[in-house]
Amino acid sequence: LAEYCGVRHAIGVSSGTDALLAALMAIDIQPGDEVITTPFTFFATAGEVARLGAKPVFIDIEPDTFNIDVTKIEAAITPRCKAIIPVHLYGQCADNETALDIAHRHGLHMIEDAAQAIGARDVQGRPAGSVGAIGCLSFYPTKNLAAMGDAGACLTNDDALAEKLRSIRNHGQSGAYEHTTVGGNFRIDALQAAVLDLKLPHLDEWIAARRKIAARYSEAFADTSLVTPRVLPGQEHVWHQYTLRVPGGRRDALAAHLTEQAIGHRVYYPIPLHLQPCFADLGYQCGDLPEAEAAAEQVISVPIFPELTEAEQTRVIEAVRSFPL
Ligand SMILES: *Cc1c(COP(=O)(O)O)cnc(C)c1O
Repeated sequence: LAEYCGVRHAIGVSSGTDALLAALMAIDIQPGDEVITTPFTFFATAGEVARLGAKPVFIDIEPDTFNIDVTKIEAAITPRCKAIIPVHLYGQCADNETALDIAHRHGLHMIEDAAQAIGARDVQGRPAGSVGAIGCLSFYPTKNLAAMGDAGACLTNDDALAEKLRSIRNHGQSGAYEHTTVGGNFRIDALQAAVLDLKLPHLDEWIAARRKIAARYSEAFADTSLVTPRVLPGQEHVWHQYTLRVPGGRRDALAAHLTEQAIGHRVYYPIPLHLQPCFADLGYQCGDLPEAEAAAEQVISVPIFPELTEAEQTRVIEAVRSFPL
């Protein structure tokens, strides 16, 4: 895995969530610290920050890629800020270079949430998860590299952080039953590791199959009023999701239409994290992060996975196109 992701160390852990938690523990995030991230992501990205008593600071996203808008990072940095977590949403890397440059200039750690992006490459050609101090992967069964249950990994080029992560995942043990820090049981399950070991050699072939489906969808939807996913020049997208934007307040109507046609679909994510009930005490209001809020109202993902046959792709295309747009 380390070789595939272009890093010195890959440390297997129990889930993508625990990868984030262990990463934040390894960089010593404390109660009261602030961590800047995107509100348009799976809950765990910010949930793990909050679990450590630190404060997620949400900034808006780019409307075309749905990734964190790095031009808004600097204005959000306070003396309590310790880290930035870009998320490579749907399988396309965020602007790593700008985020990393800001992190370096302000003495912040960058942690990549690459749970949806294993195998992706950023504009500089670097594998997802290999750029920040620590990269976090998930092998949850719906992810591009899927275990048969929960699993994840932390990636790093830093030998000291690698040693810390290995200790944290095993209750902070330094020697036999000697604990230098308080960690947890974040170890990867051996059976999951065995499954992943067998599947990893096939990942590139599966990514290629996803790319072919994405290209076919984008061509098929080009003449509709749906907004097809934008891949920035130089990005190598791995298509964890194929996500359309439905203008004119008609997303839920399209969802109902697809349900009627027995076509799977999902909204990732219907509630941006700054408006989640559990984060009400952070004080965000509706309207604070308009791009994330608009995305939550307009996006819909349609089936994409390597085994999707051409006939099934045709059915998806016909079902979407038969919706009066
Ligand atoms: C899946 C996912 C996670 C959490 O991974 P689990 O293995 O489900 O705990 C974190 N962040 C993002 C962006 C994800 O998609």
